[in-house]
Amino acid sequence: MATEFIDKARITCRAGNGGNGAVAFHREKYVAAGGPDGGDGGNGGSILLQVDDHMSTLMDFRYKRKYTAENGMDGQGGRKSGRDGASLTIRVPRGTLVRHAETGEIIKDMSDDAPFVLCKGGRGGWGNRHFATPTRQVPRFAKAGLPGQSYDVLLELKLLADVGLVGFPNVGKSTLLSVVSKAHPKIANYHFTTLYPNLGVVYVDEGVSFVMADIPGIIEGASEGAGLGHDFLRHIDRCRLLVHLVDASGSEGRDPVADFDAINAELRRYSAELAARGQIVVANKIDLVTDPAPVEALRARAESLGYPFLTLSAASHQGTRELVSCIAAALSTLPPVTTYEPEYVERPPQVDLSEPLHIERQDETWLVEGEWLRRLMANINFSDYESRMYFDKQLRASGLFDRLEEMGIRDGDIVSLYDLEFEYRR
Ligand code: GDP
Ligand code: MG
Repeated sequence: MATEFIDKARITCRAGNGGNGAVAFHREKYVAAGGPDGGDGGNGGSILLQVDDHMSTLMDFRYKRKYTAENGMDGQGGRKSGRDGASLTIRVPRGTLVRHAETGEIIKDMSDDAPFVLCKGGRGGWGNRHFATPTRQVPRFAKAGLPGQSYDVLLELKLLADVGLVGFPNVGKSTLLSVVSKAHPKIANYHFTTLYPNLGVVYVDEGVSFVMADIPGIIEGASEGAGLGHDFLRHIDRCRLLVHLVDASGSEGRDPVADFDAINAELRRYSAELAARGQIVVANKIDLVTDPAPVEALRARAESLGYPFLTLSAASHQGTRELVSCIAAALSTLPPVTTYEPEYVERPPQVDLSEPLHIERQDETWLVEGEWLRRLMANINFSDYESRMYFDKQLRASGLFDRLEEMGIRDGDIVSLYDLEFEYRR
């Protein structure tokens, strides 16, 4: 049974909500009124992404599409905080691009080992013990937790390799990879052999190695719907160098120069950038060559384009050492593998400011609650000046301060919004 290579998936991720703070008062026998001792709600768990080198496809995401982290527990009396919700780590293959599902913008290129927080868990609400002040000795309120962030994302695998092997099916790409690296790709003498990319690490010298990718053969006319081909070319987008393998033996009646030109034409059709990438041209199956003329023609063609040219017999290991050194030398002059910068910048959600907020007064404290405020606060980064300014603007636009004025708020009173409190100044 053929296994399909899954290199794209759409998933929904939702961090846990923060637990609610508790309203409670300390009780002791013979003590009339104890102080407030309601504990805080726990923080919601976050959703993290982490590279796992044991994964090579996005197959796991085909059936499991929803990922939810745990909610924080509510606080309790006796200063007991609610337990934090457990975070959830989603493992992805190295080279996975995470895109915003609606806009397609890159949120993160998962190519290094650092865990990435995709959805932040909601902060837990404070219990009433936090709100005791000299003027507010009996706070009969606590705060609700904030919701966790949630995102729909597209995962797209773009393999991370230094060198990409290109060439028609059957020219010996898989054979070469298996000979120079520890990878064991399937090798068979028919087209469409390789249905998914293989990666292999090639050790050159002490401390010198590179990663080589063998992607499914480009079939001429793939752009017209042959199925395989262009879709897979994405996997060599990041490669620093291409090794272009050509069957030099003229078996199956093929002409090496025509094959070489055809593959280059396909590369150009896919992307001008990829077509301009450096190549090393390799005439393989040299052990089968009886007429040297086509090989020399290919050499001339390659050299006219400024590409190094080598001959090889991957099957009998002739010329592999020279090829590996040639690749290593070329790589040493090239910049590192491309990684993609994030395009997506966190934007506070669009909220409907006309939905009225609930305002309640307790002594000099004005408690404000409401669904849009909760959502907004969960997605505002309060350590960032611009975000704070944006938040302030939204509050003003909502008419909150006008309403507070109408209700009789005075300078120096406290405005209390979930886990944010500030003194009111006109
Ligand atoms: P791919 O489709 O480009 O990955 O090609 P494979 O590596 O699967 O090889 C296709 C066929 O060519 C296999 O039967 C290999 O054994 C054979 N082959 C590969 N390299 C050589 C070579 O240098 N000489 C000879 N005679 N056969 C080779
Ligand atoms: Mg192959």
